Amino acid sequence: MSTSNPVNLLDFDVDGLVAWFAGLGEKPFRARQVMRWMHREGCDDFDAMTDVAKSLRARLKDIAVIRPPVPVRDSISADGTRKWLLDVGNANAVETVFIPEAHRGTLCVSSQAGCALDCAFCSTGKQGFNRNLSAAEIIGQLWLANKLLGAARDSADDLEAGEKDNGRIISNVVMMGMGEPLANFDNVVTALRLMLDDHAYGLSRRRVTVSTSGIVPAMDRLRDECPVALAVSLHASNDALRDRLVPINQKYPLRELMAACQRYLERAPRDFVTFEYVMLDGVNDSDAHARELVALVRDTPCKFNLIPFNPFPNSGFLRSPAERIRRFAGILIDAGIVTTTRKTRGDDVDAACGQLAGRVQDKTRRTVRLKQVTEERG
Ligand code: SAH
Ligand code: SF4
Repeated sequence: MSTSNPVNLLDFDVDGLVAWFAGLGEKPFRARQVMRWMHREGCDDFDAMTDVAKSLRARLKDIAVIRPPVPVRDSISADGTRKWLLDVGNANAVETVFIPEAHRGTLCVSSQAGCALDCAFCSTGKQGFNRNLSAAEIIGQLWLANKLLGAARDSADDLEAGEKDNGRIISNVVMMGMGEPLANFDNVVTALRLMLDDHAYGLSRRRVTVSTSGIVPAMDRLRDECPVALAVSLHASNDALRDRLVPINQKYPLRELMAACQRYLERAPRDFVTFEYVMLDGVNDSDAHARELVALVRDTPCKFNLIPFNPFPNSGFLRSPAERIRRFAGILIDAGIVTTTRKTRGDDVDAACGQLAGRVQDKTRRTVRLKQVTEERG
């Protein structure tokens, strides 16, 4: 018989599980053993952990569970992009997206149900904030994707040798799904530690990216506690414009943000910050904006990733024309800044980053949609 309120072991990083096991009077190596079963083998059944003592398994079954989020929809786009809608309770759903490319497989992970930061062009922001995801719900997205993609793992012969060695089809994780990761700091860092730990997913720090809208004190904490690759959502070349597009700028303006990026780079696994810049027609996409950007980032080693705006109903914005994006990129490139333009992927399943839950406009409609999804399944 299980207890009514079992502990979800997916909520612990390795140190946390060792400490919890110590509370049971169990040795650290037992915790690491269970860790490997959970995360390396994708095991959620204590009975299957055959090298763990039977008595411990029985005890764990009594007081603990291994419970990832539940997928309520699984869609595959024509270009291979795969998207899962995950039920996180109380009629809330978040999304996880897998983006296969020739030499890597990237999982885009959500950190919150909704987001409080209300960036003007973001459909997640328009939904308002519901709650932080637990560490189990964050790492559970990687757990689940690994499991569901597992069938294809053996045929993944286009991965580099090193990546194939650890048998994983997901080589990169980006915290670019729904929510602001640094506003859910502790749970995100627990999940990041699991992504990096050899007893769990063993990903390199360079292949795990946190994207933030620029919460400066939390950027410093991340640098000190768990430095991974950093992406910053810039989206504007001056404070007046950024105050409007990314309201957190009113609290942490560009001068402070640039200084925080420079501090981050002292400990970062990569020697540049990636600036994300959404291309909004007639708003932030002129030649003058591009030149202003060049001056802004002069002292900050960086790359730019231009993101064509993903439209959603009533957003009030349009995507910059391709030719405008090309010219804008040209100005940055001429100034010596490595600049890429994001391909829009998975359009037919609304799976592009920044477009997650794109059709869900408010709480009421989300409830209806989740109900529909559940009914479709049932
Ligand atoms: N909250 C974090 C990470 C999630 S959003 C952040 O803001 O960085 C991931 C990226 O998608 C961010 O750069 C975000 O600004 C961008 N984005 C949000 N809405 C978008 C839209 N409609 N079209 C294109 N990019 C968008
Ligand atoms: Fe939140 Fe990021 Fe969307 Fe801004 S862009 S509202 S920080 S999820």
